[in-house]
Amino acid sequence: MSDMPFDHQKLSNRILASMALGLIVGIGLNMTLASNDWFNAVVLEGLLTAVGEIFVRFLSMLVVPLVFVSLITGVSALSDPKKLGRVGGKALSLYLFTTGVAVTLALVSAIVIQPGVGASPDVLVERDIAAQPSFFQVLVDMVPQNPVRAMAEGDMLPIIVFAVLVGLSVALAGDAGKRIGQFFSDFNTVVMRLVGFVMLMAPIGVFALITVLAATTGWSTFLGVLKYVILVLVMLIVHAFISYSLIFKLFTGLSPVTFFAKMRGVMAFAFSTASSAATIPVTLRTVQQQLGVNNRVSSFTIPLGATINMDGTAIMQGIAAGFIAQYYGVDLTLAQYLMVVVMVIIASIGAAGVPGVGLVLLAGVLAQVGLPAEGIALILGVDRLLDMTRTAVNVTGDAMVTTVVANSEGELDHKVFAQSS
Ligand code: ASP
Repeated sequence: MSDMPFDHQKLSNRILASMALGLIVGIGLNMTLASNDWFNAVVLEGLLTAVGEIFVRFLSMLVVPLVFVSLITGVSALSDPKKLGRVGGKALSLYLFTTGVAVTLALVSAIVIQPGVGASPDVLVERDIAAQPSFFQVLVDMVPQNPVRAMAEGDMLPIIVFAVLVGLSVALAGDAGKRIGQFFSDFNTVVMRLVGFVMLMAPIGVFALITVLAATTGWSTFLGVLKYVILVLVMLIVHAFISYSLIFKLFTGLSPVTFFAKMRGVMAFAFSTASSAATIPVTLRTVQQQLGVNNRVSSFTIPLGATINMDGTAIMQGIAAGFIAQYYGVDLTLAQYLMVVVMVIIASIGAAGVPGVGLVLLAGVLAQVGLPAEGIALILGVDRLLDMTRTAVNVTGDAMVTTVVANSEGELDHKVFAQSS
Protein backbone atom coordinates (compact mmCIF):
# COMPACT_ATOMS: atom_id res chain seq x y z
CA MET A 1 0.00 0.00 0.00
CA SER A 2 1.29 3.42 -0.91
CA ASP A 3 0.73 4.99 2.49
CA MET A 4 2.91 2.44 4.22
CA PRO A 5 6.26 3.75 5.37
CA PHE A 6 7.76 0.28 5.01
CA ASP A 7 7.42 -3.03 3.30
CA HIS A 8 5.38 -5.23 5.60
CA GLN A 9 6.85 -8.56 4.54
CA LYS A 10 10.43 -7.39 4.62
CA LEU A 11 9.77 -6.12 8.10
CA SER A 12 8.25 -9.45 9.15
CA ASN A 13 11.37 -11.23 7.92
CA ARG A 14 13.59 -8.78 9.72
CA ILE A 15 11.64 -9.35 12.94
CA LEU A 16 12.01 -13.11 12.61
CA ALA A 17 15.71 -12.71 11.91
CA SER A 18 16.17 -10.53 14.97
CA MET A 19 14.35 -13.13 17.07
CA ALA A 20 16.77 -15.78 15.91
CA LEU A 21 19.73 -13.48 16.51
CA GLY A 22 18.44 -12.62 19.98
CA LEU A 23 18.14 -16.30 20.79
CA ILE A 24 21.69 -17.05 19.66
CA VAL A 25 23.20 -14.03 21.43
CA GLY A 26 21.12 -14.69 24.56
CA ILE A 27 22.09 -18.33 24.84
CA GLY A 28 25.72 -17.39 24.18
CA LEU A 29 25.61 -14.82 26.98
CA ASN A 30 23.85 -17.30 29.25
CA MET A 31 26.71 -19.75 28.84
CA THR A 32 29.54 -17.27 29.13
CA LEU A 33 28.67 -14.13 31.05
CA ALA A 34 25.69 -15.21 33.14
CA SER A 35 27.59 -14.86 36.40
CA ASN A 36 29.21 -11.52 35.62
CA ASP A 37 27.44 -9.03 37.92
CA TRP A 38 28.54 -5.96 36.07
CA PHE A 39 27.40 -7.28 32.74
CA ASN A 40 24.06 -8.41 34.14
CA ALA A 41 23.36 -5.10 35.84
CA VAL A 42 24.43 -2.80 33.04
CA VAL A 43 23.71 -4.66 29.83
CA LEU A 44 21.02 -7.24 30.54
CA GLU A 45 18.95 -5.71 33.32
CA GLY A 46 19.95 -2.22 32.23
CA LEU A 47 20.22 -1.44 28.56
CA LEU A 48 18.53 -4.40 26.89
CA THR A 49 15.69 -4.63 29.40
CA ALA A 50 15.04 -0.92 28.94
CA VAL A 51 15.01 -1.19 25.15
CA GLY A 52 12.57 -4.13 25.33
CA GLU A 53 10.32 -2.35 27.80
CA ILE A 54 10.29 0.85 25.77
CA PHE A 55 9.21 -1.11 22.73
CA VAL A 56 6.39 -2.88 24.59
CA ARG A 57 5.30 0.46 26.06
CA PHE A 58 5.10 2.05 22.64
CA LEU A 59 2.92 -0.81 21.48
CA SER A 60 0.75 -0.68 24.59
CA MET A 61 0.46 3.09 24.25
CA LEU A 62 -1.39 2.61 20.98
CA VAL A 63 -3.86 -0.02 22.15
CA VAL A 64 -6.53 2.10 23.84
CA PRO A 65 -6.62 4.98 21.32
CA LEU A 66 -6.52 2.56 18.41
CA VAL A 67 -9.27 0.26 19.69
CA PHE A 68 -11.48 3.19 20.62
CA VAL A 69 -11.06 5.15 17.41
CA SER A 70 -11.13 2.22 15.04
CA LEU A 71 -14.19 0.67 16.69
CA ILE A 72 -16.15 3.90 16.46
CA THR A 73 -15.11 4.22 12.82
CA GLY A 74 -15.99 0.60 12.06
CA VAL A 75 -19.33 0.52 13.86
CA SER A 76 -20.50 3.89 12.55
CA ALA A 77 -19.73 2.80 8.99
CA LEU A 78 -22.06 -0.19 9.29
CA SER A 79 -25.14 0.93 7.46
CA ASP A 80 -27.12 -1.85 9.05
CA PRO A 81 -26.92 -2.18 12.84
CA LYS A 82 -28.27 -5.72 12.54
CA LYS A 83 -25.05 -6.61 10.82
CA LEU A 84 -23.15 -5.72 13.95
CA GLY A 85 -25.20 -8.23 15.90
CA ARG A 86 -24.54 -10.86 13.24
CA VAL A 87 -20.80 -10.21 13.14
CA GLY A 88 -20.68 -10.30 16.94
CA GLY A 89 -22.72 -13.50 17.11
CA LYS A 90 -20.60 -15.30 14.52
CA ALA A 91 -17.34 -14.17 16.08
CA LEU A 92 -18.44 -15.19 19.57
CA SER A 93 -19.63 -18.61 18.44
CA LEU A 94 -16.40 -19.29 16.57
CA TYR A 95 -14.27 -18.04 19.45
CA LEU A 96 -16.08 -20.38 21.81
CA PHE A 97 -15.93 -23.26 19.37
CA THR A 98 -12.18 -22.97 18.75
CA THR A 99 -11.49 -22.69 22.48
CA GLY A 100 -13.62 -25.78 23.08
CA VAL A 101 -11.61 -27.69 20.47
CA ALA A 102 -8.37 -26.44 22.03
CA VAL A 103 -9.12 -27.56 25.57
CA THR A 104 -10.49 -30.90 24.40
CA LEU A 105 -7.31 -31.57 22.42
CA ALA A 106 -5.31 -30.59 25.46
CA LEU A 107 -7.12 -32.92 27.84
CA VAL A 108 -7.08 -35.88 25.48
CA SER A 109 -3.35 -35.45 24.90
CA ALA A 110 -2.72 -35.13 28.65
CA ILE A 111 -4.67 -38.33 29.31
CA VAL A 112 -2.85 -40.24 26.58
CA ILE A 113 0.70 -38.98 27.16
CA GLN A 114 0.52 -38.68 30.98
CA PRO A 115 3.11 -35.91 31.38
CA GLY A 116 2.68 -35.74 35.18
CA VAL A 117 3.69 -39.31 35.86
CA GLY A 118 7.28 -39.36 37.04
CA ALA A 119 7.76 -35.58 36.82
CA SER A 120 10.44 -34.20 39.11
CA PRO A 121 10.35 -30.45 39.25
CA ASP A 122 13.39 -29.03 41.00
CA VAL A 123 12.00 -25.62 41.80
CA LEU A 124 9.00 -25.11 43.98
CA VAL A 125 7.94 -21.54 44.41
CA GLU A 126 5.06 -20.11 46.36
CA ARG A 127 2.74 -17.93 44.41
CA ASP A 128 -0.23 -15.80 45.31
CA ILE A 129 -3.34 -17.34 43.88
CA ALA A 130 -5.80 -14.93 42.37
CA ALA A 131 -9.48 -15.68 42.62
CA GLN A 132 -11.31 -16.07 39.37
CA PRO A 133 -14.16 -13.64 38.78
CA SER A 134 -17.53 -15.34 38.50
CA PHE A 135 -19.29 -15.43 35.15
CA PHE A 136 -21.85 -12.87 36.32
CA GLN A 137 -19.16 -10.57 37.61
CA VAL A 138 -17.54 -10.66 34.17
CA LEU A 139 -20.91 -9.62 32.69
CA VAL A 140 -21.32 -6.75 35.15
CA ASP A 141 -17.73 -5.60 34.63
CA MET A 142 -18.33 -5.30 30.89
CA VAL A 143 -20.38 -2.18 31.44
CA PRO A 144 -18.14 0.80 32.15
CA GLN A 145 -19.12 2.77 35.19
CA ASN A 146 -16.73 5.39 33.98
CA PRO A 147 -15.35 5.06 30.45
CA VAL A 148 -12.39 7.28 31.24
CA ARG A 149 -11.36 4.99 34.07
CA ALA A 150 -11.78 1.95 31.84
CA MET A 151 -9.45 3.59 29.32
CA ALA A 152 -6.98 4.64 31.98
CA GLU A 153 -6.83 1.06 33.19
CA GLY A 154 -6.81 -0.43 29.70
CA ASP A 155 -9.85 -2.51 30.58
CA MET A 156 -10.75 -3.86 27.17
CA LEU A 157 -14.32 -5.19 27.45
CA PRO A 158 -15.86 -1.98 28.89
CA ILE A 159 -13.92 0.06 26.31
CA ILE A 160 -15.39 -2.13 23.56
CA VAL A 161 -18.92 -1.74 24.93
CA PHE A 162 -18.54 2.03 25.17
CA ALA A 163 -17.01 2.43 21.71
CA VAL A 164 -19.69 0.25 20.09
CA LEU A 165 -22.43 2.37 21.67
CA VAL A 166 -20.73 5.61 20.61
CA GLY A 167 -20.28 4.21 17.09
CA LEU A 168 -23.96 3.26 16.86
CA SER A 169 -24.97 6.71 18.06
CA VAL A 170 -22.68 8.34 15.50
CA ALA A 171 -24.40 6.27 12.80
CA LEU A 172 -27.84 7.35 13.99
CA ALA A 173 -27.14 11.02 14.72
CA GLY A 174 -27.70 12.47 11.24
CA ASP A 175 -25.48 15.35 10.10
CA ALA A 176 -23.75 15.77 13.42
CA GLY A 177 -23.00 12.04 13.35
CA LYS A 178 -21.55 12.33 9.85
CA ARG A 179 -19.16 15.08 10.90
CA ILE A 180 -18.01 13.22 13.99
CA GLY A 181 -17.78 10.00 11.98
CA GLN A 182 -15.48 11.73 9.48
CA PHE A 183 -13.32 13.01 12.31
CA PHE A 184 -12.91 9.52 13.78
CA SER A 185 -12.22 8.05 10.36
CA ASP A 186 -9.39 10.57 9.81
CA PHE A 187 -8.15 9.99 13.33
CA ASN A 188 -8.09 6.25 12.60
CA THR A 189 -5.89 6.77 9.55
CA VAL A 190 -3.47 8.82 11.64
CA VAL A 191 -3.30 6.25 14.44
CA MET A 192 -2.72 3.45 11.93
CA ARG A 193 0.18 5.45 10.57
CA LEU A 194 1.53 5.71 14.07
CA VAL A 195 1.32 1.93 14.39
CA GLY A 196 3.51 1.78 11.28
CA PHE A 197 6.16 3.94 12.98
CA VAL A 198 6.21 1.82 16.10
CA MET A 199 6.53 -1.31 14.00
CA LEU A 200 9.71 0.07 12.46
CA MET A 201 11.23 -0.25 15.91
CA ALA A 202 10.23 -3.89 16.18
CA PRO A 203 13.46 -5.58 15.05
CA ILE A 204 15.45 -3.83 17.78
CA GLY A 205 12.74 -4.26 20.41
CA VAL A 206 12.24 -7.93 19.64
CA PHE A 207 15.99 -8.54 19.66
CA ALA A 208 16.27 -6.98 23.13
CA LEU A 209 13.31 -8.93 24.55
CA ILE A 210 14.51 -12.28 23.28
CA THR A 211 18.16 -11.73 24.20
CA VAL A 212 17.31 -10.88 27.81
CA LEU A 213 15.00 -13.86 28.03
CA ALA A 214 17.47 -16.35 26.60
CA ALA A 215 20.32 -14.95 28.68
CA THR A 216 18.45 -15.11 31.98
CA THR A 217 16.45 -18.33 31.66
CA GLY A 218 17.61 -21.15 33.87
CA TRP A 219 17.32 -23.92 31.32
CA SER A 220 17.73 -26.66 33.92
CA THR A 221 14.26 -25.93 35.32
CA PHE A 222 12.88 -27.30 32.09
CA LEU A 223 14.25 -30.78 32.62
CA GLY A 224 12.07 -31.90 35.54
CA VAL A 225 8.90 -31.09 33.67
CA LEU A 226 10.22 -31.60 30.17
CA LYS A 227 7.37 -33.87 29.11
CA TYR A 228 4.85 -31.22 30.10
CA VAL A 229 6.74 -28.48 28.24
CA ILE A 230 7.07 -30.53 25.09
CA LEU A 231 3.45 -31.69 25.18
CA VAL A 232 2.15 -28.11 25.54
CA LEU A 233 4.40 -26.90 22.72
CA VAL A 234 3.39 -29.74 20.43
CA MET A 235 -0.32 -29.25 21.08
CA LEU A 236 -0.01 -25.50 20.53
CA ILE A 237 1.58 -26.18 17.18
CA VAL A 238 -1.02 -28.83 16.29
CA HIS A 239 -3.90 -26.51 17.15
CA ALA A 240 -2.44 -23.50 15.34
CA PHE A 241 -1.40 -25.23 12.18
CA ILE A 242 -3.84 -28.14 11.90
CA SER A 243 -7.10 -27.13 13.62
CA TYR A 244 -6.92 -23.56 12.33
CA SER A 245 -5.99 -24.61 8.80
CA LEU A 246 -8.91 -27.03 8.68
CA ILE A 247 -11.43 -24.54 10.05
CA PHE A 248 -10.10 -21.78 7.79
CA LYS A 249 -10.19 -23.92 4.66
CA LEU A 250 -13.59 -25.35 5.49
CA PHE A 251 -15.27 -21.98 6.07
CA THR A 252 -13.53 -19.83 3.45
CA GLY A 253 -12.08 -22.16 0.83
CA LEU A 254 -9.00 -19.89 0.92
CA SER A 255 -5.40 -21.00 1.35
CA PRO A 256 -4.26 -21.43 4.96
CA VAL A 257 -0.67 -21.19 3.68
CA THR A 258 -1.27 -17.62 2.53
CA PHE A 259 -2.91 -16.85 5.84
CA PHE A 260 0.03 -18.12 7.88
CA ALA A 261 2.62 -16.51 5.62
CA LYS A 262 1.01 -13.15 6.25
CA MET A 263 0.62 -13.77 9.96
CA ARG A 264 4.25 -14.50 10.72
CA GLY A 265 5.04 -10.94 11.80
CA VAL A 266 2.04 -10.84 14.14
CA MET A 267 3.01 -14.18 15.63
CA ALA A 268 6.53 -12.92 16.22
CA PHE A 269 5.20 -9.81 17.98
CA ALA A 270 2.91 -11.89 20.17
CA PHE A 271 5.70 -14.33 20.97
CA SER A 272 8.13 -11.58 21.97
CA THR A 273 5.71 -9.55 24.06
CA ALA A 274 3.63 -12.46 25.50
CA SER A 275 0.66 -10.11 25.36
CA SER A 276 -2.33 -10.36 23.04
CA ALA A 277 -3.41 -6.90 24.16
CA ALA A 278 -0.10 -5.24 23.31
CA THR A 279 -0.17 -7.00 19.94
CA ILE A 280 -3.63 -5.62 18.99
CA PRO A 281 -2.24 -2.75 16.87
CA VAL A 282 -0.12 -5.15 14.81
CA THR A 283 -2.91 -7.73 14.48
CA LEU A 284 -5.39 -5.07 13.37
CA ARG A 285 -3.02 -3.61 10.85
CA THR A 286 -2.13 -6.99 9.41
CA VAL A 287 -5.66 -8.34 9.05
CA GLN A 288 -6.72 -5.13 7.35
CA GLN A 289 -3.78 -4.39 5.12
CA GLN A 290 -2.42 -7.87 4.45
CA LEU A 291 -5.37 -10.23 4.74
CA GLY A 292 -7.92 -7.79 3.31
CA VAL A 293 -10.44 -7.69 6.15
CA ASN A 294 -12.60 -4.58 6.25
CA ASN A 295 -12.21 -2.39 9.34
CA ARG A 296 -15.97 -2.70 9.86
CA VAL A 297 -15.40 -6.29 10.99
CA SER A 298 -11.86 -6.32 12.37
CA SER A 299 -12.19 -3.20 14.53
CA PHE A 300 -14.71 -5.17 16.54
CA THR A 301 -13.56 -8.78 16.39
CA ILE A 302 -9.81 -8.28 16.97
CA PRO A 303 -9.99 -6.40 20.30
CA LEU A 304 -12.81 -8.71 21.35
CA GLY A 305 -10.75 -11.77 20.47
CA ALA A 306 -7.64 -10.44 22.18
CA THR A 307 -9.70 -10.22 25.34
CA ILE A 308 -11.90 -13.29 25.30
CA ASN A 309 -10.41 -15.76 22.83
CA MET A 310 -7.37 -17.57 24.15
CA ASP A 311 -6.99 -20.98 22.64
CA GLY A 312 -3.30 -21.24 23.47
CA THR A 313 -4.04 -20.43 27.09
CA ALA A 314 -6.81 -23.04 27.12
CA ILE A 315 -4.36 -25.65 25.83
CA MET A 316 -1.84 -24.86 28.54
CA GLN A 317 -4.54 -24.92 31.22
CA GLY A 318 -6.04 -28.19 30.04
CA ILE A 319 -2.68 -29.96 29.93
CA ALA A 320 -1.61 -28.38 33.21
CA ALA A 321 -4.76 -29.62 34.94
CA GLY A 322 -4.07 -33.15 33.69
CA PHE A 323 -0.39 -32.84 34.62
CA ILE A 324 -1.13 -31.67 38.17
CA ALA A 325 -3.77 -34.38 38.70
CA GLN A 326 -1.28 -37.04 37.57
CA TYR A 327 1.53 -35.59 39.66
CA TYR A 328 -0.59 -35.77 42.81
CA GLY A 329 -2.01 -39.15 41.84
CA VAL A 330 -5.60 -37.89 41.60
CA ASP A 331 -7.90 -39.78 39.23
CA LEU A 332 -10.30 -37.33 37.62
CA THR A 333 -13.78 -38.55 36.70
CA LEU A 334 -15.39 -37.80 33.36
CA ALA A 335 -17.60 -35.21 35.07
CA GLN A 336 -14.48 -33.53 36.45
CA TYR A 337 -12.89 -33.47 33.02
CA LEU A 338 -16.01 -31.82 31.62
CA MET A 339 -15.81 -29.35 34.48
CA VAL A 340 -12.22 -28.56 33.47
CA VAL A 341 -13.41 -27.89 29.90
CA VAL A 342 -16.12 -25.48 31.06
CA MET A 343 -13.89 -23.74 33.59
CA VAL A 344 -11.04 -23.35 31.12
CA ILE A 345 -13.36 -21.75 28.59
CA ILE A 346 -14.64 -19.34 31.24
CA ALA A 347 -11.09 -18.64 32.44
CA SER A 348 -9.89 -17.86 28.93
CA ILE A 349 -12.79 -15.43 28.48
CA GLY A 350 -12.08 -13.74 31.80
CA ALA A 351 -8.32 -13.51 31.27
CA ALA A 352 -6.84 -10.26 30.07
CA GLY A 353 -4.33 -10.51 27.23
CA VAL A 354 -1.26 -9.74 29.30
CA PRO A 355 1.76 -11.85 30.22
CA GLY A 356 1.23 -14.65 32.68
CA VAL A 357 -2.46 -14.32 33.52
CA GLY A 358 -3.26 -17.72 32.07
CA LEU A 359 -1.24 -19.36 34.81
CA VAL A 360 -2.77 -17.28 37.56
CA LEU A 361 -6.29 -18.12 36.41
CA LEU A 362 -5.41 -21.78 36.32
CA ALA A 363 -5.79 -21.65 40.11
CA GLY A 364 -9.53 -21.13 39.75
CA VAL A 365 -9.82 -24.05 37.35
CA LEU A 366 -7.92 -26.34 39.69
CA ALA A 367 -9.99 -25.27 42.69
CA GLN A 368 -13.22 -26.12 40.87
CA VAL A 369 -12.21 -29.72 40.38
CA GLY A 370 -10.58 -30.06 43.78
CA LEU A 371 -6.97 -30.16 42.61
CA PRO A 372 -4.34 -28.49 44.80
CA ALA A 373 -3.66 -24.97 43.56
CA GLU A 374 -0.08 -25.29 44.83
CA GLY A 375 0.40 -27.55 41.83
CA ILE A 376 0.92 -24.35 39.87
CA ALA A 377 4.30 -24.04 41.54
CA LEU A 378 5.37 -27.12 39.62
CA ILE A 379 5.12 -25.40 36.28
CA LEU A 380 5.79 -21.81 37.23
CA GLY A 381 9.47 -21.96 36.39
CA VAL A 382 8.83 -22.93 32.79
CA ASP A 383 5.82 -20.79 32.10
CA ARG A 384 7.49 -17.87 30.38
CA LEU A 385 8.39 -19.76 27.22
CA LEU A 386 4.96 -21.38 27.13
CA ASP A 387 3.32 -18.01 27.72
CA MET A 388 5.07 -16.57 24.69
CA THR A 389 4.15 -19.51 22.50
CA ARG A 390 0.52 -19.66 23.59
CA THR A 391 0.14 -15.92 23.04
CA ALA A 392 1.22 -16.41 19.42
CA VAL A 393 -1.54 -19.03 19.12
CA ASN A 394 -4.06 -16.76 20.85
CA VAL A 395 -3.59 -13.93 18.34
CA THR A 396 -3.53 -16.31 15.38
CA GLY A 397 -6.95 -17.59 16.49
CA ASP A 398 -8.28 -14.03 16.65
CA ALA A 399 -7.09 -13.28 13.12
CA MET A 400 -8.33 -16.60 11.75
CA VAL A 401 -11.85 -16.15 13.14
CA THR A 402 -11.87 -12.52 12.00
CA THR A 403 -11.00 -13.52 8.44
CA VAL A 404 -13.65 -16.26 8.44
CA VAL A 405 -16.35 -13.90 9.73
CA ALA A 406 -15.34 -11.14 7.28
CA ASN A 407 -15.47 -13.60 4.40
CA SER A 408 -18.96 -14.77 5.35
CA GLU A 409 -20.14 -11.16 5.51
CA GLY A 410 -18.67 -10.17 2.14
CA GLU A 411 -16.17 -7.94 3.99
CA LEU A 412 -13.01 -9.69 2.83
CA ASP A 413 -11.08 -8.27 -0.11
CA HIS A 414 -9.96 -11.42 -1.89
CA LYS A 415 -7.52 -9.48 -4.08
CA VAL A 416 -5.66 -8.15 -1.07
CA PHE A 417 -5.70 -11.60 0.52
CA ALA A 418 -4.20 -13.20 -2.56
CA GLN A 419 -1.47 -10.57 -3.07
CA SER A 420 1.91 -12.19 -2.67
CA SER A 421 3.51 -11.92 0.71
N1 ASP B 1 -0.18 -13.98 27.74
C1 ASP B 1 -1.39 -14.51 27.21
C2 ASP B 1 -1.99 -13.52 26.23
O1 ASP B 1 -1.75 -12.36 26.29
C3 ASP B 1 -2.40 -14.84 28.26
C4 ASP B 1 -1.89 -15.97 29.10
O2 ASP B 1 -1.20 -15.74 30.09
O3 ASP B 1 -2.13 -17.12 28.76
O4 ASP B 1 -2.73 -13.88 25.36
